[in-house]
Amino acid sequence: MGKDMKNVAIVLAGGSGSRMKCNIRKQYLLLGDYPVLWYSLHAFQNYPLIDEIVLVCGAGEVEQCRDQFVEQYGFSKIKTVTEGGRERYHSVYEGLKAIENCDYVLIHDGARPFIDEEILNRVFDALLELPACAVGMPVKDTIKMSDSGGFVERTLPREKLWMIQTPQSFSYAVIRQAYDELFRRGTPEVSVTDDAMVAEYVLNCPVKLVEGSYGNIKITTPEDLYLAESLLASYKSKNLRAYMDHTGKNGMRTV
Ligand code: C5P
Repeated sequence: MGKDMKNVAIVLAGGSGSRMKCNIRKQYLLLGDYPVLWYSLHAFQNYPLIDEIVLVCGAGEVEQCRDQFVEQYGFSKIKTVTEGGRERYHSVYEGLKAIENCDYVLIHDGARPFIDEEILNRVFDALLELPACAVGMPVKDTIKMSDSGGFVERTLPREKLWMIQTPQSFSYAVIRQAYDELFRRGTPEVSVTDDAMVAEYVLNCPVKLVEGSYGNIKITTPEDLYLAESLLASYKSKNLRAYMDHTGKNGMRTV
């Protein structure tokens, strides 16, 4: 990827987190020493091919996010903090509209703390070949479709199924065109749960699947936070040195 390219990460933190059953939004809950959102911001801040971060937050949270993530934690790549919208895809569109002159954009759920350099390397390798890719992993369970009465309608072929994660990454021009067209058409008939489907449905654009990791979980329910705590503990014990480099011996940030 050329040095004159500009690549932006949009980090989404505008969800209400209603499935977390907690009055603090999930992205601000503490995971180890930091809020959940800190981890992916930290990964993008330290990844050399990312030039800027757009942080999309909830209504009325812009000042709080600037104070905490730009001032307190010193994430200098965050150039814009903007309010999201009602659904995830509204928030993504706000993020896209906040970007100028960009070659590639990586759209990431702030509720997924465990992206790492290896995943980002694979994403950028894929972007050298194609303008659209989505991180995911092959499913481990058998997946069935149900009918409206709660009976099995069909069993899907497991060997072809992936669970999709983020980041989902695109040439900016392609995903901007897809989102502009999505909004021009009005309210979508299906629920838009990721960005790849916007590129697929609106532009018929091929989307390459890129290996993520089974640890790249999204924190959605209280159980996920327990799982994330134990994943964090195992990463710390496996890679104590890297963790210390990030946080300093006494847990103080050094970013
Ligand atoms: O709701 P879901 O778990 O799919 O959210 C995925 C990500 O999108 C989360 O990081 C959440 O904060 C973000 N989101 C958003 N704006 C919304 C809904 C979700 O930024 N309206």
